[in-house]
Amino acid sequence: MPELPEVETVRRGLAPAMEGARIERLELNRPDLRFPLPEDFAEAVKGRRIVSLGRRAKYLLIDLEDDLTIIAHLGMSGSFRVEDTLLGEFHHPRSKDGKHDHVIFHLQGSKGPLRVIYNDPRRFGFMHLWKRSDLDLYPAFAQLGPEPTGNALDEIYLAARFAGRAQPLKSALLDQTVIAGLGNIYVCEALWRAHLSPKRAAGTLVTPTGRPKKPLLLLTTSIREVIADAIAAGGSSLRDHIQTDGSLGYFQHSFSVYDQEGKPCRTPGCAGMVSRITQAGRSTFYCPVCQR
Ligand SMILES: [Zn+2]
Repeated sequence: MPELPEVETVRRGLAPAMEGARIERLELNRPDLRFPLPEDFAEAVKGRRIVSLGRRAKYLLIDLEDDLTIIAHLGMSGSFRVEDTLLGEFHHPRSKDGKHDHVIFHLQGSKGPLRVIYNDPRRFGFMHLWKRSDLDLYPAFAQLGPEPTGNALDEIYLAARFAGRAQPLKSALLDQTVIAGLGNIYVCEALWRAHLSPKRAAGTLVTPTGRPKKPLLLLTTSIREVIADAIAAGGSSLRDHIQTDGSLGYFQHSFSVYDQEGKPCRTPGCAGMVSRITQAGRSTFYCPVCQR
């Protein structure tokens, strides 16, 4: 399942092809993905220019003229590919099967016609059409916390959310109302970088007067850095994800704890081994020696 860095990688890969282009035609090869496609989808977007490509948590936002946004989620196996006579064809090798090409954007770009194709063998992805000025009212966005990439995420904010909570740090960080788009892999990595145990109660990082303790400052920095590093590496291609330009991300090779059970901890001077435990039904990887 793509995590935030992968979706950001897709956004960055698609932006040069899609931004500024006009939608000549939207080809829909089935009425639904995980959910029904928007009513009158093709009619609603026909002729409109794509103003910009954005992202909120793990959702791709295709902003169109006239205050419209296509909200797209890649689900488990969704991918986009660009077919451009000038740039050549870039795609995900496993997405070659045309029978999984469900939504095709026929675009007129500044350099000529191109197609952007959404392929999704398992069809857990979905698309919605929404009024851009009302994006905050989109149900999945209404409760979302701040992005882990933006300035809104700081230790003061996290202290307010963690104060008095006995919930383990792992679960507290996976809560999308606390931080948007932070998934299992990057929570494990950030906790390791901050030397904090995933089992530790979130409230222990906050003083009795609600101020962030020093480890919370380190955790906040670790979250921002681990996401920034993953985006810089082009997202992690854990199973079958690939960049829209056809190249594989490689960040998975630098995971320090995720999926590293039994390997020596990489913290300098630490003699611990990476352990795997289950928390709230999900695997947690951590070093019991240096993460306290
Ligand atoms: Zn360690």
